[in-house]
Amino acid sequence: MKNTSNWVFDLDNTLYKAECGLFDKVHILMGRFIEEKLNLSSGEAQALRSKYYHQYGTTLRGLMIEHKINPDEYLDYVHQINYDVVSANESLKNTIQELKGKKYIFTNANYGHVEKVLEKLKMENIFDGCFDISESDYLPKPHKEIYDSFQKKFNLDNSSTAMFEDLHINLKVPSAMGWETVWVTNNLEYNLNKDVNQQEDIQKIIDEKGYISHVTDNLENFLNNVK
Ligand SMILES: [Mg+2]
Repeated sequence: MKNTSNWVFDLDNTLYKAECGLFDKVHILMGRFIEEKLNLSSGEAQALRSKYYHQYGTTLRGLMIEHKINPDEYLDYVHQINYDVVSANESLKNTIQELKGKKYIFTNANYGHVEKVLEKLKMENIFDGCFDISESDYLPKPHKEIYDSFQKKFNLDNSSTAMFEDLHINLKVPSAMGWETVWVTNNLEYNLNKDVNQQEDIQKIIDEKGYISHVTDNLENFLNNVK
């Protein structure tokens, strides 16, 4: 990663570990929103959430397309959570700060959520830019168009850009664009890639997919080794 001068980070379950449970809280509210809006049972709502997540990339996308849900109403609702489970991470902050070049956040969440998470991580002032889902008219990663919008917004040179992400499917497009890709895995129990259930599967996925340049379960160590 010697030539990297643009460091692109996903936010949720990448800059903090999934084990803290923040995203689980969001998932619960996603289910509750669907229950209330579509008048479904809890089980039906969870099944629909999962279905849309896999079919459209985010639950929100499915709700917008299939049910004409207002995205801001949904995003405000699902982020009414207690952010205290996210702790300050001074050493990761220092590591990111010391990287040479520009650092960006590229997320399927919205700015309100980004601000709250970064405040808890004490990383409010270390990024050069952020691209949230409202910038892409609520089209999420892994749709190709929004990587192009992101790249254009910050005028990134593809050959010196690296992206860090916990959902490996979101690394497919950037790899094709010439970016280096780093899959940041979480404790597998919490991994949203439900196809991953054992360590050997990780290697299998890397070999099969061909779009993952590197894998790590510890972002900070990884960055310290390559910077
Ligand atoms: Mg993520």
